[in-house]
Formats: sequence, C-alpha cells, structure tokens
Amino acid sequence: MIYLYYSDRSLNYNFGPEHPLNPIRLSLSYQLIEDSGMLDGRTQLIRPTPASEEDLHLVHTLEYIEAVRREEPDRAFGLGSDDTPVFPGIFDASSIMAGGSIDAAKRMIEADCSTFNLAGGLHHAFPTLAAGFCVFNDVALAICTLKKRFSRILYLDIDAHHGDGVQQIFYEDGDVLTFSIHESGNYLFPGTGFVDEAGSGPGLGYSVNVPMPMYAGDADYLMAFEEIVPRLFEWYRPDVVVAELGSDTHYSDPLTSLNVTLNGYAHMVGRIVELTGRWAQGRLLALGGGGYNMAVVPVAWASVLRRMRGEDPAEYLPPSWVELFSNVTGCMPLCIPDMEITPGKETQKRISAELAQTLKSLKAIHAHIHPHVF
Ligand SMILES: [Zn+2]
Repeated sequence: MIYLYYSDRSLNYNFGPEHPLNPIRLSLSYQLIEDSGMLDGRTQLIRPTPASEEDLHLVHTLEYIEAVRREEPDRAFGLGSDDTPVFPGIFDASSIMAGGSIDAAKRMIEADCSTFNLAGGLHHAFPTLAAGFCVFNDVALAICTLKKRFSRILYLDIDAHHGDGVQQIFYEDGDVLTFSIHESGNYLFPGTGFVDEAGSGPGLGYSVNVPMPMYAGDADYLMAFEEIVPRLFEWYRPDVVVAELGSDTHYSDPLTSLNVTLNGYAHMVGRIVELTGRWAQGRLLALGGGGYNMAVVPVAWASVLRRMRGEDPAEYLPPSWVELFSNVTGCMPLCIPDMEITPGKETQKRISAELAQTLKSLKAIHAHIHPHVF
C-alpha cells in the first residue's frame, strides 16, 4: 500500500505573492493525482497532523521552536530573511509540513509500506536556523523517527539544491547515509555539497555529494546517478530509503541553471523506486521539495506516484485538470514526453570534463575511506 500525505492546510505555508515558493503547486499536484484516478485501492490519502513539540525536538532546539512560535523576525534564528520571511501562522503551517513527514515515518514503523508527503522535503533547515524557504527540517525529523525501528537509513536527495541541513544533522552519524546530487555550490545556493564533504567521526564516509556542472542535463545526471547510487545500495544495504524529489532541476526552473527534462526526472525517480525495491524491501518515504515552475511540479510529482505504483509516467493529462491548471495559472502545463535538450558541442564538452573530474575525485575520497565501495 502507498500512503499519500496531503492537506489543504499546507497551503498556509505561504511566504507571500512575491515569493517563489507558491503553495498552489501543492494543491495542483494533489488535484492532478486525484483527477488521474490514482486515489484507488492501491493509494490511500492521509491528512497529516501537526508535529508535536516533542517530535520537533527530535531535531530542533526548544529555543528555536519557541522562536518560531513567537512569529516575529529573529535573525539569530534565520527568521525574517528575504528567503524565509515570517508571516502570521508560520508556526502552525510549518508544523503541518513537518507533521506529514513524521506521520509517514510513524506509519512505516508500524507496517511495511511506502509513503509520499507532497509538502515535505524542507532540507535546508538546521536545528537552530531557518534557511532557504525551510523552517522545520521535516526530512531530518522523518529520519529520526524512522531510527526507532530501522538501523540503516539511506537518504537520497535529487533536488537541484544541496541537501545541506540534512547532511549537517547526520554528518557524524554512521546510521544515516546521505547522498545529494545537485547543481554545484560554485553556482547555486547554499554553496555547499562538494565531494570532500564526506562526513566525520563515526559518520566518515556516510556523506556523499555529487555537485553537477551548470547546464547538466538528462544524460549527465543519469550517468552520475548510475555511477554512484547503485553501488551505495549494494554496499550499505539500507533498511529504508528517504528521498527528497525536488523538481527544480528542470530546464525551465527560474531558480536554477540545469537542463534536466521531465523524462530524465521520471527515469531517475523510477531507478530510486527500483533500487529500493531490490535492496530495501520497497520501503520508500518520498518527499516533494523544490520546484518553482508551476507548469512542471504537478506533472513531476504525479510521475513520482506513478513510479511508486509500478506504472509508467502518464503521457496524458486529464482534461478536467488541464482546465483547472490553465484557469489558475493562465498557462499550459508541460507533459511527458518533454522536449529534449541538446546543448552546444563546446558546452557539452565542458560539462562532461567537469563531471568526469568530479566523479574521479569523489571515488578517490570514498575509496580511501571504504575501499570496497568504488
Ligand atoms: Zn531546490
């Protein structure tokens, strides 16, 4: 059984009309899933409950939780920046976002299943710091919850941005292997996620980063993914997989400079589902994440659920949803198959050379720590 977590209450996580994180992407994603007939006997909708203070405290300090509850700008805690402004109701809204991922993790503790929290994936929050549109780190909260049953947790982050908050929270923890593939920190927020960030202490070797060159596309992403991720599964043999599936790697995303298409995205998600089925008994906790082109996000996340159900991504969008979409956004959605992106020869040469160097360095660092992995 697949449990889908979504509530209209997550639409209250709203930083205002000028902010790129438009909550409508969540309701449009949910509506597409519903209109596509996926809420059947195999996929069940669950309304998330707000995270309790006790749950939030698994990752965040009481001082930070209190600061969020005050709902006033407090730069010491990262609250009130341009990226993460404070708004009335920010505490309840953030608690609902976190609650979905915690609820999903709790369900996976009770029974073997897979789960998908559309509103989750706020991977930039730190224990005492809001950052990059993220207040509570629902990803880390879900992982800490899963630890109550599972001893080897693999975190896969394919969002265009480095999963810095999650990496830092488990940086010294050998029970959580974090992997992030993202646009290089040389070009993009948060400016971290380089190959030499490999963990420390008991966590040394349990933090893996693949920084991608600017304008990297499907072939580059899939090559890097296949070089690294299957070997991590084989070596680590995770009990459970948590995946942050931000769709801001898309060529049309306004915040990033990558060239991934919806086809490439759906293929990579399909590989995550496949590998989780093979090595982790299908226990996948999927989370949304970034994605700032409204014409992409719902189609991308509906394809995630399709893949989790063992189906191919739909090449057909229900007319009822297309009508809703164009009424709400004033434009038309993209669909699968997406157009193909072919960079110029010189650009591709530069991308391939930079990526080859990155993978070589990454393997050298990790082969030094765990000689049997690469
Ligand atoms: Zn992102």
